[in-house]
Amino acid sequence: MATTALDVGRKRATLAWWGIAAVVAVFVISGLDWVGWATGADELTRGLQSWPQMPPWTAALLAILGVAVLLQTGRPSRVRVGAGCVMAAAAGVLALLFLVEYATGRSLGLDALLFPDAVADLPDAFPGRRPSLQAAWSVLMLSFAACLLRLDRRWSQVVWPWALAAAVIMPLVTLIANVFGDSWLKGGQANTATVGVGLLISAMVLGRPDRNPLAWMVDRPDRWPLVRLLGVLAGLPLVMGLSRLVFLGIGVRGEAMWVLSIAVTTTAVGAGAFYIGQRELRLLLEKEIASGRRADSERKRLDAVLANAPSAISVRDRQYRYTVVNDAFCELFGQDSVAEVIGRAEADILPTDVVARSRRADVRLLAGENFFEEEPISRADETLTVLTQRFALRDDNGAATELVTIRTDITHRRKALQEIAERRRWHDEIAAAIAEDRLLVYSQPIVDIASRDKVGEELLVRFRDRETGQILPPSGFLPQCERHDLMPVIDRYMLGRAIELAGRGRNVNVNISGRTISDDGVMTEIFETLKSSGPHIDEKIIFEITETTAVASHAMAKAFSLGMAGLGCRVVLDDFGTGYGSFTELRHLKLYSLKIDQSFVRNMLNDADDERVVNTMVFIANSYGLSSVAEGVESQEVLDRLAELGAQRAQGYHLGRPQPVVW
Ligand code: C2E
Ligand code: CA
Ligand code: CA
Repeated sequence: MATTALDVGRKRATLAWWGIAAVVAVFVISGLDWVGWATGADELTRGLQSWPQMPPWTAALLAILGVAVLLQTGRPSRVRVGAGCVMAAAAGVLALLFLVEYATGRSLGLDALLFPDAVADLPDAFPGRRPSLQAAWSVLMLSFAACLLRLDRRWSQVVWPWALAAAVIMPLVTLIANVFGDSWLKGGQANTATVGVGLLISAMVLGRPDRNPLAWMVDRPDRWPLVRLLGVLAGLPLVMGLSRLVFLGIGVRGEAMWVLSIAVTTTAVGAGAFYIGQRELRLLLEKEIASGRRADSERKRLDAVLANAPSAISVRDRQYRYTVVNDAFCELFGQDSVAEVIGRAEADILPTDVVARSRRADVRLLAGENFFEEEPISRADETLTVLTQRFALRDDNGAATELVTIRTDITHRRKALQEIAERRRWHDEIAAAIAEDRLLVYSQPIVDIASRDKVGEELLVRFRDRETGQILPPSGFLPQCERHDLMPVIDRYMLGRAIELAGRGRNVNVNISGRTISDDGVMTEIFETLKSSGPHIDEKIIFEITETTAVASHAMAKAFSLGMAGLGCRVVLDDFGTGYGSFTELRHLKLYSLKIDQSFVRNMLNDADDERVVNTMVFIANSYGLSSVAEGVESQEVLDRLAELGAQRAQGYHLGRPQPVVW
């Protein structure tokens, strides 16, 4: 489970309470000591009958330090920290005076100030009524540590644990001496004072769980540094005992033995502690550098992702000011750079209608709703369809601190979806029209100009609307069929009708689109259908492909015309003259005739150019051995002129309008 800031906070609060309890214990020890001195209750000044007495000065100094620590526990004000330092400094100065007394061997008279009657019986000689040398030393070190308790400088954070360590070392040595029962140090320091010093150290350490050594324990999942430290401390009596034995063995005794043993022990333990400290420091530094680097690269990666994200991402604080935006956001709202947007208010950047929608959304967001909508955003002259997601960033207490908006331009996706829906609609529409016989077949006669006989008919498709019953011409639905790839369906249907009519002995022209001839599957199917449609059917069917198709898909058109010639079907080049190609390009097609486009024919009597074109086309057809058909013949005059020009066939309103085919 992830440790949250809240967990760490709770842990620290608990630790602080233990620290206060330790200080209270110091007060109790000191208080009992003073009561002992005041009332003559000897055991209260010792703790245990066999223990040395704690002088009233030691109790006083420990209590003053206790107050100094207490003042600085928790979240102290500057005044409390100042007062704590003053108290600690006072204890330190007093301890220093006693140490001066020890060093100079002269009494300053301080010792007789507290409970003079009670301490009168104690010997004048050192330590006498004074705190022991060890206690004075510890108090001096503790006063440093207490002064540095709330000073967070680099050096103070290093000096602080060393001051604590220095404070603990002497009482520990005394404790060991007491344990070993050596006469030289016995009685030098009260065990109660040792306990008091230990409690004060604990209180200070517990008050600063963010500092080493406690920081290791609180923040590190493994307990190894602590175990090692305890190992070193546990090694202290061991080293002490061993060196004592060694020195006794080589004949060093008394004071000299103790001084040398202490020197060896403190050196060994100090070296161990130093080694562990350095190692931890190095690990800590490495960890910090690594996590710093990781944070750095993660930040860079996030920036890169944001910058390259196709969606416009923005984060606003509760004052509606932007804290994060990306390039896509700037592009969407016409801003020059990310830097120009950061720190500015939403209303400065967004168009008014977007701000209004955003505010309405915020109300719902803050009420805990998820937000997901499509919104229109105008940019220059286009309106984009944007998918907008919003969510609130909340802190541990569930309060919304920032609002995140991600806008994705789905204009293209929307169009594509519309296209797909449209395509599906048209496929269904045409399938239904076929099933319900609403795809109608009209027919227009084709006449031989010389004999004026009907020699054939062109089949033309019509569509009857289901609702209105209206009959649509090809221009009303074929463009959609082309767009949605439905031309093969139409062409197959019309070919089916053409085969039926051919089966009844009629000569029919059927139109076939470029899309159909380019589809191998459909073409195979058409060839198979024609092959199996019975005798003499093929020769009655003429396919019309437009010049545009033939030019655009020349290879397909060639394959088609050859394939059809193989079956016996004829192919006509429709709308001749509109394909913007020269006929020489199309000479490899296997064609039966050229169908001159109606745009040249209709007006040929009034437009000399048109007439010239028609004349040329008839000439081309003749020179390639093809017949020519003129479309769009709307008058007898045109028909007569076409006869003069030598065209073979004609089609047009004058000869017959497209009518529902008569079966
Ligand atoms: P198209 O193949 O050139 O067909 C001739 C068009 O000219 C027909 O229009 C016909 O009604 C019209 N027309 C005939 N004579 C005259 C005239 O004297 N004056 C005028 N102004 N127009 C005349 P429609 O039926 O509207 O068809 C238009 C186009 O739709 C056709 O042009 C053809 O390209 C396509 N089409 C029609 N039916 C089919 C079909 O079944 N399959 C395929 N692929 N296309 C078809
Ligand atoms: Ca045609
Ligand atoms: Ca035509």
